[in-house]
Amino acid sequence: MRFHLLTIFPGIFDSYLGESLFKRAQKSGLLSARVYNLRDFTSDKHKKVDDRPFGGGPGMVMKVEPVYKAIACIKAAIARAGKARAKARVILFSTRGKKFNAAAAKRLSKYRDLILICGRYEGVDERVARHIADEEISIGDYVLSGGELPALVLMEAVSRHIPGFLGKEESLEEINGSFPTYTRPEIFVVDKTGGKGKGRAKKWSVPAVLLSGDHKKIAEWRRGHDRIS
Ligand code: SAH
Repeated sequence: MRFHLLTIFPGIFDSYLGESLFKRAQKSGLLSARVYNLRDFTSDKHKKVDDRPFGGGPGMVMKVEPVYKAIACIKAAIARAGKARAKARVILFSTRGKKFNAAAAKRLSKYRDLILICGRYEGVDERVARHIADEEISIGDYVLSGGELPALVLMEAVSRHIPGFLGKEESLEEINGSFPTYTRPEIFVVDKTGGKGKGRAKKWSVPAVLLSGDHKKIAEWRRGHDRIS
């Protein structure tokens, strides 16, 4: 699977994608993440990626031309690599998009190439949504300053569906859904006196079923507490 990230802040992705599961997945060739600086797809000498909104109002709007050129270039490269028939999907991050969820993550994991357009400023020229993007996605009912964090959120949720992305340690949730987890100690004692020994200590314990060794009961308990699947 290949992620293509269109942004005016390419440096944002380096640290997150350079650690942990993403680092491992890229090293092993399971996925690739390419970041494209939209400024490289401008045609004026100032490399302008934004302009004032028609009709007036505050802020700037991201221009359609650099996005169009970048995507044409990516799609041409996909075609050159002989992947013309392979599925590519162009996604625009937008506060007006369809709300992202687990089902969308699973659906998008079936594509070979995901092209992610990260907006900035007051948003992106609407012609990108109308003519270039296959779909618009919002990650929640709040406004962020750019589409870069939404892109990372989507990438991570999608990548978890790629076989082999999750290592052994993480794969439990993949199989069983989303339930509360505990680890040692069985009882965590909170001494409210700060170690002076006075007052009542609080005991935070692990649900007994998880210590029972009864795997059928444990599976049942987990299903009952599952929040996703
Ligand atoms: N005034 C604009 C705000 C744009 S925020 C509006 O109300 O839509 C700038 C960019 O950040 C957007 O173009 C989008 O790409 C991204 N963004 C902000 N919040 C987002 C969210 N909740 N989900 C997805 N993308 C978001």
